[in-house]
Amino acid sequence: MTHKYYIVGNWKMNQSLSEISTFFKDLGTLPDNKKYEAWIAPQAIHLSKVLENGIKAGAQNVSDNNTGAHTGEVSPSALIDLGAEFTLVGHSERRAIYKEDNDFINRKLRLSLEKGLKVILCCGESLEERENGMTESVVNRQIELGLQDVHEANRSDIIIAYEPVWAIGTGKTASPSQAEDVHQSIRTKLIELWNEEAAKEAAILYGGSVKPSNVAELLNQTNIDGALVGGASLKGADFRALCDAAEDQKE
Ligand code: PEP
Repeated sequence: MTHKYYIVGNWKMNQSLSEISTFFKDLGTLPDNKKYEAWIAPQAIHLSKVLENGIKAGAQNVSDNNTGAHTGEVSPSALIDLGAEFTLVGHSERRAIYKEDNDFINRKLRLSLEKGLKVILCCGESLEERENGMTESVVNRQIELGLQDVHEANRSDIIIAYEPVWAIGTGKTASPSQAEDVHQSIRTKLIELWNEEAAKEAAILYGGSVKPSNVAELLNQTNIDGALVGGASLKGADFRALCDAAEDQKE
C-alpha cells in the first residue's frame, strides 16, 4: 500500500568479508530512481563494510539500553553513529532461541525510534499456532504489544514484517493469498491502533523462503509492500533478481 517496495536482506550469522565483496560485485549498480528500497542487515561487525558499498544497512538486533554496562550489546546510538538506517526487532529466531518477549521487544523498538533508527518489527505464528487457527490472534498480539506506547511522530519509521515461523529457512513459502490474508489483518490492526492514514502508509513486508521465483506474485498482493529475505539475500545475483522484480511491479 505504500508507494515504495522494500527488499531487505537478513544475512543472519553468515558472510565473510570476501563473500561480501563477491556479493557486491555480483549485485552490480542499482538504478538511482528506483521503485524500491534495497536494505541489508549483515552481522553488526560488517555494517561498515556494507555501508562502504553504498547500500543502506541496518542491524539484526539492538540493545534496549543506549549506553553503559551491557557487555556484548550494540546500542541504537552507536548504530546511528555508524550510519545505519534501521534495525530489526523481534525476529522469530531471537524470540525462540533467545527468549525475547513482546515487552522486551517493545522497549528495543521505542528506544531505537527515539534515537533515530527505522525499525522493522517482525511477527509471525508457529506451525502449531496456524494449525490451531491462532494465526491472527498471535500476530495481532505481537503487533499490539510490540507497538505499545509508540509516539505518534514515530509511526512513519515503523515497518512490519510478517514472517510465519514455519516458512523461515524451510523452503515452504506462504501462498500469496495466505500471506495477503494476514497482511490485511495486520493493516486492520494498525487502523485500530493508529488511524486509517497511518496504517495505509505503513509498509508491511512478507518474509519466509522468498526467492527470485516467487517474489513477484507475493509483491503483487495489495497489502504486501516488500520482502524480508534470508537465504536468497546472500548471493548478489539473487538479491539483484529480487530488486528487479520489485522494479517490475505495477505501481
Ligand atoms: C528471515 O530470516 O527473515 C527469513 C525470512 O529467512 P528465509 O528467507 O531464509 O526464510
